[in-house]
Amino acid sequence: MEKYIDLAKELKMVNAMIISPQQVFFDIRAILKCRWGCEDFFQKTIRCHTRATTYEERVEMVKRYNHILLAHSHDARELSVAVLEIERTAFLDGYYFAFAIRTCNLCKSCNAKEGSPCPFPDKVRPCDQSFGIDVYKTARNLGLPCEVLQSRDDIQNRYGFVLLD
Ligand code: SF4
Repeated sequence: MEKYIDLAKELKMVNAMIISPQQVFFDIRAILKCRWGCEDFFQKTIRCHTRATTYEERVEMVKRYNHILLAHSHDARELSVAVLEIERTAFLDGYYFAFAIRTCNLCKSCNAKEGSPCPFPDKVRPCDQSFGIDVYKTARNLGLPCEVLQSRDDIQNRYGFVLLD
């Protein structure tokens, strides 16, 4: 598992650690905020689809894993790139269920948000909020910073997950 921490650092992540599913906090209110509080939520776009899965199924999916890589970045796009690369590497290493959970920020400007076709539909992964993950509580419990930003100039602390095995 150390290999994936090293890879995350090579991919410019400021922190990376292996955690267990017990260290991921779920709260159905994350979905409440996703559906009514997120400026990026668009029911019909690939970016926000939950693919007909229920909250209970999504929680169960995460809990079936043993090791999860948590990546911390100040840059949304770098984080999306990193979790996909770590997922790919783990898959090629034989962890065939490796899977990233991270709001898609691959493109500088998201076509999907603007109602156009997504150029990389196979690379879109689900948003952690749509999975009901309380990222604030999860990060803080691990001693990592996660505060409500007060202005656009504040340093962003963004988090992504790679479910490994
Ligand atoms: S790959 Fe690009 S267009 Fe597609 S959802 Fe992600 S950011 Fe948007």
